[in-house]
Amino acid sequence: MLKEAGIMRDYRTEGIIIRVRDYSEADRIVTLFTKDYGKVQAIAKGCRRQKSRKRGIIQLFTHGDFALYRGRNLDTITQVEGRESFPALREDLEKMAFGAYIVELVDGFAVPGESQEDLFLLTLVCLHLLCAGDPELTARAFETRIMDLLGYMPYLDGCVNCGQPLTGTGITFSSRLGGGLCEVCNAQDRDSIACSMGTLNMLKQLSKWDIRRLNVLKMNGNVRREIGEIMSIYIMHRLEKKLKSADFIRTLSSVQIIG
Ligand SMILES: [Zn+2]
Repeated sequence: MLKEAGIMRDYRTEGIIIRVRDYSEADRIVTLFTKDYGKVQAIAKGCRRQKSRKRGIIQLFTHGDFALYRGRNLDTITQVEGRESFPALREDLEKMAFGAYIVELVDGFAVPGESQEDLFLLTLVCLHLLCAGDPELTARAFETRIMDLLGYMPYLDGCVNCGQPLTGTGITFSSRLGGGLCEVCNAQDRDSIACSMGTLNMLKQLSKWDIRRLNVLKMNGNVRREIGEIMSIYIMHRLEKKLKSADFIRTLSSVQIIG
């Protein structure tokens, strides 16, 4: 019996570090998004010591294989082998900002103890795309795909209020109702955001697009801006909280480091 209990407390899983904070003098507490057990809080003891082998691995964005020991509130990382540390995300402020945004979204939507393998794979692909490709486009694709995966994709096949086709002018997007509103219905939600038909069509296209082929997708500046605005408000509404990294991206773009 004792042996069996021991086996259950030790476990291994592939994971991505989605949040890090320093703890005491030498430790870090991290949030892992694991392939097999969803979100896990764990402590990496001694990882901030100069000589620690874990020092370079226990960092935001690291993808690796973790051995853990289950605790009451907090698990302990006993071993880690890094697979990918995504150095490009640490060397480029824009990539880092969008990377922080992606993992903050994962942290917001991932469920502790529950495997969400599709979301795990999507996150990994997007971290790679951020390094190699267009960071803003990657973030827009990630937002749309995560909403689709979790069943929160807004209704875009017609007006979410009356069902009529969305055409012409006066179209808005309602976060509260979860979709586009036609000119007649846009007064149903006074907080809804004016947007073009092209933007709603692109949102629909993004939710179905093969993310590995993101580099061939053409999205003009206006559509990008509108999708960014719509999705950040819609996601905030879904999460019921503000995202720190989204504020940071806005600050960067206001001082024109981004965009
Ligand atoms: Zn309508």
